[in-house]
Order: sequence, then C-alpha cells, then structure tokens
Amino acid sequence: MSSVLDPIFGNATGTRKPVATPITVAPGDGIGPEITEAVLRILQAAGASIAPEFVEVGERVYRSGNTSGIPEDAWASIDRTGVLLKGPITTPQGGGYKSLNVTMRKTLGLYANVRPCRSWKPVVSSRHPDMDVVIIRENEEDLYAGIEHRQTEDVAQCLKLITRKGSERIIRYAFEYARTQGRQRVTCMVKDNIMKITDGLFHRVFEEVAAEYPQIETNVQIIDFGMANFVHRPESYDVIVLPNLYGDILSDVAAQMTGSVGMGGSINIGNGGALFEAIHGSAPDLPRDVANPSGLLLAGVEMLRHIGQHPVAARVMNAWLATLEDGIHTVDIASEQTEKRVGTREFADAVIERLGRVPESFTAAEAEAPSEPMRLPHLSERSVESATKVLVGVDVFLDWRDGSAEELAARLKAAAPAGGPQLVMITNRGVKVWPQGNPKTLCTDHWRCRFQGNAVTHQQIVALLSSFAEAGLDFIKTEHLYTFDGQAGYSLGQGQ
Ligand code: NAD
Repeated sequence: MSSVLDPIFGNATGTRKPVATPITVAPGDGIGPEITEAVLRILQAAGASIAPEFVEVGERVYRSGNTSGIPEDAWASIDRTGVLLKGPITTPQGGGYKSLNVTMRKTLGLYANVRPCRSWKPVVSSRHPDMDVVIIRENEEDLYAGIEHRQTEDVAQCLKLITRKGSERIIRYAFEYARTQGRQRVTCMVKDNIMKITDGLFHRVFEEVAAEYPQIETNVQIIDFGMANFVHRPESYDVIVLPNLYGDILSDVAAQMTGSVGMGGSINIGNGGALFEAIHGSAPDLPRDVANPSGLLLAGVEMLRHIGQHPVAARVMNAWLATLEDGIHTVDIASEQTEKRVGTREFADAVIERLGRVPESFTAAEAEAPSEPMRLPHLSERSVESATKVLVGVDVFLDWRDGSAEELAARLKAAAPAGGPQLVMITNRGVKVWPQGNPKTLCTDHWRCRFQGNAVTHQQIVALLSSFAEAGLDFIKTEHLYTFDGQAGYSLGQGQ
C-alpha cells in the first residue's frame, strides 16, 4: 500500500489544513489501472484532500486461489477508510469464482445502488437527449438473497425476500436523495398486481414514506408498463426506486440509453461504507490509452461529495464539462462535435488544464454542499412494531408422481390425523387443481397442499407431517400460514 498524496499539510504560520481523508483505491483489471491513474491525477490537481491506500482486488487475486477476489488487506483498508474507489475488474471465466461486487455489497451492507443516468447532449448523441434520471436500486434483498433449491426432479425455486425494514431503508434513502439534491419526483416500480404480498409490501412502504415528503411528487408504476414507458420517455422520470431485480435491469437499460457506457458512475452505499465505480467493465478488447475515464471520474466526484469536499467536486465536474464542450473527446464519444480525439492520459490532461473554468452550455455544478444534509435512513415505528400473528394452517409441498390431483387428495385425506388442520386446496405451479381443477392444467411433480383449521398448533403440523412420512408421502417443504392482525399473510392461490 502507498499514498500518492501527502496526507497531512502544515504551513509556515503553524496552522494546519485538515488531515486528508483516507480512501481505499482498487485500480482493478484491464483498463482499470489507467482510468484510475487518470482520475486520481485529476482529483489531486483539483485539490482533493484525500489519502489513497492502494489495494489489489480482482483477477490476479482470484487466480491466486482466493474465490472472492478480495484479499484480507483490502478488507482491512476498506474497514479503516469506509470509502472505496474501485476500477472495473475481470471475473475469470469458469465456475467457482464469487461475484466480487455481490460479496462487497453483502459484507459491507451496501444496501443502496445509486446510478445517475443522464444524456450529455450535444456531446454524446443519444435518442434521449433530455434524459436525467437517478435510479436507486435496493441492493441486498429480493431474488438476490441467493436462497435457491431444487426440490423435485422437475422444479427449482428461488426465494424472493422483501422485508419491511429493507424496503423502508431504500425508499427513505430515495426520498432523502431527492430532497437534498433538489429532485422533484420519486417513482416506485413494482409488480404488485401479481406479487401482492412481496411487491405489495414494497409499494405500501413507499406510500407510507411518501406521505412524509409532501413536497415531492410521487407515483407508482407496474414494472412492465413503467419500464416500457421509461424507454419511450425517460425525460419524464426523475428519481426511480426499485427492488433489486427490477433495479438491476432498469439501471443497465438506462445507462445504455444515455448513449455511452463509458460515461456512467455508480455508487453503492450502506452502513458499512461506500463504493464508487464506473458502470462499465474492464473492457479487455480496448488497446492501451484509449478508454474513457469519465465514468470513474463521475464516481470520483460523487465520492468527493460523500466525504464533504463539495467545492473540489464542483471544480472537477465543471472542468470535465468544459473539456467536453471544447470538443476534447475519447474515441467512444467522438462525433461531429469533436475537435480533437484523445486517449485516456490526454483527456485527463485536458480536464486538468480546465480546472477553474465553468462550462458555458452545460449547467455548472454547485460548489456548495446541499443546505439540508441527508438524514440517513432511520426506521419508523411501523418497521419495529409487532403485529398479532396467528397460525391458521400449513402449505405442505409434495414431490408426487403417482397419479392425479384427485388421487393425491384422497391419499392426503386418508393420512391426515382427525382433529388437526384439514386439506382445503391443492395447487400445481400455483394453479388450483383440487377441488374442481381443470384437466387441461399442466401438472409437474410439485404439489402445494393447503391444510387449514382453527387454532392450529405446531404440534398438529408435526403430527400431520409424521403421518405423511408414515404414508410414504415425500414432503419437500412446508410454509406455515399466518394471519397478521387478522390479515392473511399468504397468497390465496389462483382459482380461489
Ligand atoms: P465492458 O463494460 O468491459 O465492455 C463493453 C463494451 O464497452 C466494450 O466494447 C468496451 O470496449 C466498451 N467500454 C467499456 N468501458 C469503456 C470505456 N471506459 N471507454 C470506452 N469504451 C468502453 O463489458 P464486458 O466486455 O461485458 O466485460 C468485460 C469484463 O468486465 C468481464 O470480465 C466482466 O465480468 C467485467 N465487468 C466488471 C464490472 C465491474 O467491475 N463493476 C462491470 C461489468 C463487467
């Protein structure tokens, strides 16, 4: 590890400038080292008070046998600094390597992914020249909890986990972001016409938090319509907050729509630290000194704001905008507006030459910190209060290949102990097949058998499963049915 900047400055009068903020820098692979070098040079020339600690993560670490790609000294540095500026890394082909970004996100609790996606007209041509949107994606939950099972010959499942606390934290973050950055509208996208309980919870929490920000316009869109509309009219969106999977997809779509993958920065933020990076990868196809360092530079600007160095962030941003305006472009954004095509190093030199200038056609960046600081997401009482939870039944999932739904129902009824919960429904792939199923329904070997009763106990459920074991019925999973303050905490099943 080494520092490229002198961390502490003293002067002849004996007054001391503040100690430079330590940051961890991982240059990464492929174009990573050269864009990182370019970015640090610009930040340094702009007067950023940062003390980088360099760590190695990525391909070489993976190949040394570390399946996470992150060695201990990198973790130690990130623990110390809480801020990581990271170049793109190359994930080696073949199995056994864990996604470095997912590991970092989970280990550091980086619950929010923030992607500003805007078009840079007229410098970068885009079919959406007025697009200026910030996508805020929940980063930890949803289908990305990584809980997957193959349960039968035919069926595999992935658990979608949406929590009230996780939803409230990301949604509050989105509103705080909008409030402090002067954004006018927050849109939430979900699919709660189908996933009424999971996406429904995200939607409900959105409405609750929105009520605390009456000055911000809000709307909720079903993700399929929302995404289609976004692609058609991105300029009508401002801040968008989404659960993990939808956010993953939309943020990549939006980044492409700006016109250049080389111009997007990405921020992952959480209680355990903050990670700033470009949205693009290590671009192994590019020759040396060709890559556009702008994505990582914009991430670096966000990093400076994160550590409270707003005037320096504005200086860098304005010099970068002036460079674009002057027609100094890397090859990926070269167009008829280009006066000079430059490589990575020369682009950085051009930005440094323009430090102190403000752009003429682009809006200049504000040097002031937002007057209202961001109130880090806190949880409301709703997220910690407890509801009255009552056990009313159990869904028993069976691996069954020995006949029809009618025959299965007969076996289950014969096996279920009297006095306990009784069979009320069987579904296959969520479609009701008993009672009164449709013979045309495609059935797999995976049956959900719902048992309900009054004042059901765990002992009754254990007795039910015991009787199935004795009857040779292969139950592969159970889900208990609860009501919360009298509301069913389970889906009712199609056809019911
Ligand atoms: P990529 O983003 O590296 O490249 C896609 C295309 O964009 C290529 O044509 C490339 O030349 C171009 N490009 C990317 N960055 C550019 C820049 N700064 N300037 C000019 N052109 C640029 O995506 P890929 O080729 O699919 O992935 C390459 C490697 O990067 C893979 O190993 C992948 O796993 C990794 N990756 C890492 C990250 C990350 O570290 N956050 C993100 C995405 C991909």
